[in-house]
Amino acid sequence: MAQKEPLTERLDATFLTSAPDLRRCPKDDLAEVAFAGRSNAGKSSVLNQLTGNRRTAKVSKTPGRTQLLNFFDVRTGGRLVDLPGYGYAKAGRAAQIQWQQSVNDYLSHRDNLAGVVLVTDIRHTHQAYDTELIQWSAASEMPLCVLLNKADKLSKSAQNQALFAFQKAHKQHPCLSVLCFSALRGTGKLALIEQLQNWLRTDQCA
Ligand code: GDP
Repeated sequence: MAQKEPLTERLDATFLTSAPDLRRCPKDDLAEVAFAGRSNAGKSSVLNQLTGNRRTAKVSKTPGRTQLLNFFDVRTGGRLVDLPGYGYAKAGRAAQIQWQQSVNDYLSHRDNLAGVVLVTDIRHTHQAYDTELIQWSAASEMPLCVLLNKADKLSKSAQNQALFAFQKAHKQHPCLSVLCFSALRGTGKLALIEQLQNWLRTDQCA
């Protein structure tokens, strides 16, 4: 059984490699948590906030890497995987189809995947792709943590309303957690780190 890591205020993570598809992913010997989300929902900002390092997600935004799966080693164990953002306006149709293929393959067949973080904009939850991912995680019983990001754009009571509505809409989901989050302010960060440490500690792939 792996040791419980003390809760930290940031996850120390360093870039490992990029892969265009499942076949070229690194060896599946460590637990992984994947980050998904529509382009512009704030996935890069969330990763930077989590790691306390503005360069973390810059790696994934480097030209040539935006359509790749980007892997980061977490110092305390396991990996974070930044999936390409969905719905990137400048990507052509062929690139979008390729995106879907590589992300779907990864999500469906990666044996060491311990959980998925879906970054959404709290003002626009339930967009097409988000709903599909939530349904898929329910059907496959893949643990999912949905971040209602950009919470700072709403009043506290509107945040609570959004959180409540989201929980109510998905109360049948077997393994869903939801957090109001602000990558700008760091709101929700400690709860997310705790969730990630729990997932990455799973010794299923030790
Ligand atoms: P990505 O395309 O999903 O990686 O999104 P980015 O991280 O690049 O963020 C897109 C835009 O949203 C940028 O202008 C960010 O500064 C902004 N943003 C991201 N997170 C937050 C947040 O929590 N609050 C606010 N107000 N803006 C945010």
